[in-house]
Amino acid sequence: MIANKTLKLSLKSLREFAKKRLTDEVLIDLDARDECPLEIVRHMCSPDKLGIQLLFIPEEFGGMGGGTFDVYCVCEEMARIDLGVATAVLATFLGSDPITVGATPQQKKLWLTRIAEEGLLFAYGATEPEAGSDLGALRTTAEPVSQDGRTIGYKITGNKQWISNGGVADAYTILASTPTGPSWFVVEKGAKGFTHDEPEDKHGIRLSNTAALALDNVYVDADRLLGGVEGQGLIQAQLVFGYTRLMVAAFGLGAGWAALDRAIPYSTKRIQAGAPLSEKQGYTHKLIVPNVARLEAARSYIEETAERIDAGEGSLNTEGAIAKYMATEAGNLAADASIQALGGYGYTHEYMVEKIKRDVRITTIYEGTSEIMEMTIARDRWQLHLKTRGQHYHEQAHKFEKLHASHPNWQRSWKRRGSRG
Ligand SMILES: Cc1cc2nc3c(=O)[nH]c(=O)nc-3n(C[C@H](O)[C@H](O)[C@H](O)COP(=O)(O)OP(=O)(O)OC[C@H]3O[C@@H](n4cnc5c(N)ncnc54)[C@H](O)[C@@H]3O)c2cc1C
Repeated sequence: MIANKTLKLSLKSLREFAKKRLTDEVLIDLDARDECPLEIVRHMCSPDKLGIQLLFIPEEFGGMGGGTFDVYCVCEEMARIDLGVATAVLATFLGSDPITVGATPQQKKLWLTRIAEEGLLFAYGATEPEAGSDLGALRTTAEPVSQDGRTIGYKITGNKQWISNGGVADAYTILASTPTGPSWFVVEKGAKGFTHDEPEDKHGIRLSNTAALALDNVYVDADRLLGGVEGQGLIQAQLVFGYTRLMVAAFGLGAGWAALDRAIPYSTKRIQAGAPLSEKQGYTHKLIVPNVARLEAARSYIEETAERIDAGEGSLNTEGAIAKYMATEAGNLAADASIQALGGYGYTHEYMVEKIKRDVRITTIYEGTSEIMEMTIARDRWQLHLKTRGQHYHEQAHKFEKLHASHPNWQRSWKRRGSRG
């Protein structure tokens, strides 16, 4: 975990940098031109400049060793600035996850040190044209190359779809099937047979580069197989879902607040029928208050989950899914309501809420869609219910009863409210 003071300083530098270099005018212009500001992304990731990546690299490899809570704070702040830039910067975190959880000590030293010292940009190559929500349908293959009865390398062939930083990364983690199952490999840009397409023309996050990748017999040495053992890829991917989903949850939270940060001040200045909109309950209680409540409820769940992951309770994949589902759906609703809150102005490019609404839309799609989150949550909780022979929900109910009993004042006030009906 990073010291509170250091984290606050990093977030402050990030805000100040954005205030100068990523003003609304600049963001609107880049969005209209559909351009990823690569120089800015590299500045944010350079160790001698903003060095955001340093926050999540372990100290032994030259980073600051940030935990899940720190990463959540950075993701929220980045999303408040721009979700496209946030995606480009944090893609390195996602891309290096298979290394962090699955690599050998030598591989970790090599790649994580290079990210820390050289500001290497990574991309995470899991999705394929035919394998999105169902990664088991993976078609990319890694064929072993043998010499004297020993595997010296692999030839990777296949296609990857919708890869963030796909056209701009320095290195890629690629999921491919070996004869013993899916495995992660590191492939560097410029490898023979490795190409990327033009950037996708997207609905939102137009400041992030998203591109398809093609691998045609791309040779990598055996030491590019992460962990050195074939067939561990899906297990390694599962190990990080808890906190990668928290990252996207924080994106939903930050983008939702970015929209409300515009709608709320607007409502205090816009006079209709002789008074500011902020004084009209039909407005605040429909367009502002429910969104603030939903976003802050999601925040408390994100924070609790982040603290539990940092305390070593495991990867908490179900809780990560709940956090992502709550926060990203809440972020979308908040951005949509913010367009409404600005009326006709909200519907134009100039007032930003329209762009934020297009940007935040991705958060219910990437890193697992909302439907996959619903399925994951229902399945995992049902299994827990069966494994505990129905005790799980009884235990939760007892916990709440105990909490309730430990606050007699609350109890009295609830009773009073109850007696009033
Ligand atoms: C801008 C952008 C950036 C991305 N960045 C990356 C990246 O860096 N790396 C990477 O690997 N991938 C990335 N992705 C891919 C993203 O993770 C996938 O698009 C996502 O997982 C969904 O897969 P799909 O698009 O194939 O949709 P599908 O899986 O085909 O789903 C289509 C629809 O069907 C629903 N559905 C699917 N299965 C079920 C089911 N079992 N039950 C109920 N409903 C279901 C889905 O919820 C969705 O609504 C990115 C995508 C985009 C658009």
